[in-house]
Amino acid sequence: MPTVSIWQSTYQTLPNLQADVVIVGAGISGVATAYWLRKTRPTLQVVVLDAGDIAAGASGRNAGFLLQGTANDYATDVATLGREVTRHLWQFTLENIALIQAETDDTAIAYRQTGSYVAAGTPQEAESIQYAAALAFEDGFEGQWLPPQIANARMNAERFHGALFIPGNGRVHSVKLLRYLAEKSGATFLPHHPVMRYEVMGEDIVAHTPFRQISAPVSVWAMNAWTPQLLSETKQWIQPIRAQMLSTAPSSVELCPAPIYSHEGYFYLRQDDAGALLLGGARHLHRAAEVGYEDIINPQLQSDLEAYLHNFFPAFGAHQVLNRWTGTMGFSPDHVPCIGRLSAHAPSWWVGGYSGHGMSYGFRMGKLMAECVLEGTAQELHYFDVGRFTT
Ligand SMILES: Cc1cc2nc3c(=O)[nH]c(=O)nc-3n(C[C@H](O)[C@H](O)[C@H](O)COP(=O)(O)OP(=O)(O)OC[C@H]3O[C@@H](n4cnc5c(N)ncnc54)[C@H](O)[C@@H]3O)c2cc1C
Repeated sequence: MPTVSIWQSTYQTLPNLQADVVIVGAGISGVATAYWLRKTRPTLQVVVLDAGDIAAGASGRNAGFLLQGTANDYATDVATLGREVTRHLWQFTLENIALIQAETDDTAIAYRQTGSYVAAGTPQEAESIQYAAALAFEDGFEGQWLPPQIANARMNAERFHGALFIPGNGRVHSVKLLRYLAEKSGATFLPHHPVMRYEVMGEDIVAHTPFRQISAPVSVWAMNAWTPQLLSETKQWIQPIRAQMLSTAPSSVELCPAPIYSHEGYFYLRQDDAGALLLGGARHLHRAAEVGYEDIINPQLQSDLEAYLHNFFPAFGAHQVLNRWTGTMGFSPDHVPCIGRLSAHAPSWWVGGYSGHGMSYGFRMGKLMAECVLEGTAQELHYFDVGRFTT
């Protein structure tokens, strides 16, 4: 967050605002919360503030995979969270996809239900994917294990030890999705309004930006990785982790239209309809470096991405990289998103810690957050309540 001088902060250029709900952060969490608030109560005055613009953060910098499931595999979640919680969390992400399909226009958001592959980079990974998939199938989730020859042929790849194909998954243009929802919500979006601090005045919470103050009886802090910068109470739950991606010039070589995840999610790629390849990951090879908020390209990591492409997708051949970019993710201790009440203002909430999977929760999470704002609680809140770490 850039600093602001005393002169800038005391020369107010815009009138203060009063809203029914103020949301800080216009990523998928904030936009979806605004969407569901206004859908439930169309007369509600909802103001969404962002330091940048809609989709300035991770929501506009990701791979656009819409996947079912958490950041862990099913077996890991069963072992750490229990079977029932795991089943509900995975169901929650399935609902996320279904709600996006129901509430948006596929063409406007470039959504395609392509299915997705979880590819095994090693024989051990093939075993653990199949073990986790068997548990998920028992709980009613769909998928099909493909042996190495078929999997590699379907992905136009080499060297994978099989892959799990999940038919219900898909891909989206992330910025188009957020812009579509923001417009349809009818909420007021104020870009370039960084919140520097907040204070509680009477019943209201007041968000201070360099230009104006926005007051409301309820607020939602949807800044994901940046949450600890303003809400120090969240420091123990949310850690900023950098992810890096690249995209190539369009190619006539077709890999496959579906998103591919491999090496426990540490490599991920998809090809768009024009043939450009989007590839991300390799963070596990640079763990110590890829922490924090800086938007810096790591050349060694980027060359690891290209080596992966060359090794597992040699058919893609020579390619020109047109874009390289980073995004900041918020990681939680158990890789499940966190929700809490603001300690200084009980009607207000914060949400974050998606651990690199926020597009797979975000739209459904906005519905839950809207319920929290309007009802003071939500049926599924306990799966995400930060109190799980202390009870
Ligand atoms: C490279 C990469 C690839 C990914 N791929 C996928 C994927 O394919 N599928 C998937 O499900 N997930 C993916 N993710 C994760 C996903 O993008 C995030 O989990 C999700 O976007 C988080 O959404 P959010 O709204 O909580 O946070 P963000 O989108 O980060 O939004 C937070 C917003 O808060 C604003 N903000 C911060 N501080 C302030 C302040 N002080 N005042 C006002 N505004 C502020 C920021 O500008 C930002 O717009 C990926 C992430 C990255 C980085």
